[in-house]
Amino acid sequence: RAKAAGGNRYELADADSDARAIARHDLTNCLPAALDNGEFFIEYQPLVRLHDGTVRGAEALVRWLHPVHGVLGPDQFIPLAESTGLIVPLGRWVLQEAARQARAWRAEGTCEGPMRVNVNLSPSQLRHPSLVADTVAVLDSSGLDPSALCLEVTENALIGADEEELRPLRQLADLGVDIALDDFGTGYSNLSYLRRLPVSTLKLDRSFTRGMQRAPADPVDVKIVEGIVSLAHTLDLSVTVEGVETGTQAEHLRVLGCDTAQGWYYARPGPPERLHTLSLVDAAS
Ligand code: C2E
Ligand code: MG
Ligand code: MG
Ligand code: MG
Repeated sequence: RAKAAGGNRYELADADSDARAIARHDLTNCLPAALDNGEFFIEYQPLVRLHDGTVRGAEALVRWLHPVHGVLGPDQFIPLAESTGLIVPLGRWVLQEAARQARAWRAEGTCEGPMRVNVNLSPSQLRHPSLVADTVAVLDSSGLDPSALCLEVTENALIGADEEELRPLRQLADLGVDIALDDFGTGYSNLSYLRRLPVSTLKLDRSFTRGMQRAPADPVDVKIVEGIVSLAHTLDLSVTVEGVETGTQAEHLRVLGCDTAQGWYYARPGPPERLHTLSLVDAAS
């Protein structure tokens, strides 16, 4: 019996991993058509200035409305797009669409002061020879000011990059595009390396702020964030915190000197129209 049960378990596990492989294979196969069919859409999550609570911009987060599986999150398809190279045209589409949206927000006066948009770049987009030309073309066609665009790159995508590899980012930074180091603190870059990067913002990973969700805050997390903020400000970098889920957390991070926050406490990612309502609420309060 034990053997039969074991055999059964093995079979189930096997069938299960087959199902996963088929799904992955399936998703990979329909990725290119999905782009042509307009199955991708973007949700925006507001970025809020901590000291006065005003909306300063939003991060563009891509989703896939799959005809069979429903809405898929980026964790389910970005790695596939990355390994098949589709990330380059997909990323170009996200950039184009987000820039168009940001330009529209600006024209509508969606928030007081200049509204900005953050777009994530994957490692292969970063290494693609047309990154600078594509970005310039998008800025030109949308009429968006370069300073209204922030490109987010992960710390891990930049580790070990030499001057040559950093040149495209530096060119974009010289044009006035803001570069943010995403998921900061989760990689293994040494801190002195930061000085060499053309970045203007650190996006502190959510793992550092989880311990501040409720009072009393985790004293070690407080010290770490304090240290990072002081280092960042010394290097003239601004600090954005992601994953802010409670008011307690927001207040801690404000007191610690973080500049900008993003998280469910303010708003989940949502359709572009939502930004309008949010900033009206802000303006009214
Ligand atoms: P990320 O850039 O670090 O984005 C933040 C993620 O945290 C988003 O997940 C967001 O929905 C989630 N989040 C925001 N606030 C909270 C909160 O308060 N609590 C918690 N628990 N989570 C929160 P999402 O949308 O699933 O995106 C996952 C990752 O996929 C992103 O991480 C980014 O690396 C990648 N991604 C998203 N859109 C794109 C894209 O257009 N291109 C590329 N290359 N990558 C993208
Ligand atoms: Mg990001
Ligand atoms: Mg992030
Ligand atoms: Mg993250």
